[in-house]
Amino acid sequence: MEYVSTRDSSRKVSAAYAIAHGIAPDGGLYCPTTFPALTADDWQALQARDYKGRAALILGKLLTDFSAEELAAYTAKAYADEKFGGADTAPVVALGEGRHMLELWHGPTCAFKDMALQMLPHLLTASLRKTGETRTACILVATSGDTGKAALDGFHDVDGTKIMVYYPVDGVSPMQKLQMTTQEGKNVEVVAIRGNFDDAQSAVKRIFTDEQTRAALDADGLMLSSANSINWGRLAPQIAYYVSAYCDLVASGAVEMGAPINVCVPTGNFGNILAAYIAGQMGLPVHKLICASNRNDVLTDFFRKGGVYDKDRPFYATTSPSMDILISSNLERLLFFLSDGDDRLVASLMAALAQDGRYQVDDALFAKICASFDAGCCDDETAAQTIRALWEQQHYLCDTHTAVAVHVYEDYRARTGDQTPTVIASTASPFKFCRAVLEALGGTLDKDDVSQLDALTAFTGVAAPAPLAALAGKTPRFDRVVDKEDILSTVALLRDL
Ligand SMILES: *Cc1c(COP(=O)(O)O)cnc(C)c1O
Repeated sequence: MEYVSTRDSSRKVSAAYAIAHGIAPDGGLYCPTTFPALTADDWQALQARDYKGRAALILGKLLTDFSAEELAAYTAKAYADEKFGGADTAPVVALGEGRHMLELWHGPTCAFKDMALQMLPHLLTASLRKTGETRTACILVATSGDTGKAALDGFHDVDGTKIMVYYPVDGVSPMQKLQMTTQEGKNVEVVAIRGNFDDAQSAVKRIFTDEQTRAALDADGLMLSSANSINWGRLAPQIAYYVSAYCDLVASGAVEMGAPINVCVPTGNFGNILAAYIAGQMGLPVHKLICASNRNDVLTDFFRKGGVYDKDRPFYATTSPSMDILISSNLERLLFFLSDGDDRLVASLMAALAQDGRYQVDDALFAKICASFDAGCCDDETAAQTIRALWEQQHYLCDTHTAVAVHVYEDYRARTGDQTPTVIASTASPFKFCRAVLEALGGTLDKDDVSQLDALTAFTGVAAPAPLAALAGKTPRFDRVVDKEDILSTVALLRDL
């Protein structure tokens, strides 16, 4: 397997190189030049394996410069039972009316980011070795809340790495903030940025493309890398759980082998849903990919209004903060795939986005996009009603992000009449967004944020995940807040870690 940048496909690199560097020097994202196909034998093997074995098989198809033994060892560590609460790593729960919830939040930080970020440190340190890299990798992360903590948990005290997380100061939930600012480890730093997630993400991209900064770091034996979903090493592990969910659906008799499913994903940076698209290209029978957004509906408009991507619109802070994003980075990869690798086109669309805040794809490309995707959005009030209805009708507790997807799916099903069984990605534990979930259920909100966990347990009888309960009484270690214009000055902090 070879990888190229979405903006210049003339230079081919290995998977290890793409993972070690995170982003291409031209600002593009690394993509495979072909999609490996899952054979009938692969499907048979997949069905017989547990999650760790399934993930190792899928990754082996994509990361051909890693041996089967290496990948089996990494998935055994990343998805160890003690990290995922001993439960199924990514269980599927049927709710009727076509809804199959793929619960991706049983890992150490209680959001789906763990599925990739428990793997990435293994992939990244091996990639540094494989590419002959001797410098220390400095992982820079822009987070809308969940990536930050999951990356800190994955990388803390990992030899040969340092990690710095930037989060929007008023753009994360109190629980998310507490999770990040109490992170332990010698090689970690957490910085709040005045602005929203897009400001944080753009500022981090500025560090990556600043030649002077890179040269200064290089002189100190440091190199930059990324744990955001722009890094192929983040995306590849996410492909596995869609394939695994399909195996589970076949095993439970919910679908027959070979029959199609839909996948509905609460979407922000477009990484998770893109992983489902790639699974489809590898042979997972997918009918429609349904992209669910909150009130920040830039993607809904793109898919439903003629392929115009226009980020020039109000930014809303919602009860699903991990989806409060107007620049969905991984859409760039979809454009690259669907234009048959037209790097010039992608480079010009991304230049237009940077300059004018908008671009439009042509009719032929838009038709291809519509063949695979549908989309919808949902405001906070509707998400809250969905949480309440699921609880009252099914006794199923879901978080605010997942609720957006459930509503958008129900809306899609009513609108189209499509009865295809649908995997809905459940991306966070409801306890991570306790206040909003309690409020949706009509519970009382008179306590501070960590105590809300007990209130939600008292109200529902559902126990809070242990890693969140353990936050009570922890003291924050990090309180630095900087303006986005000053982000380059924070790079110096890396030297002292
Ligand atoms: C990150 C996140 C999302 C959005 O995922 P993308 O891959 O950025 O589209 C949705 N829900 C939760 C809980 C998240 O943490």
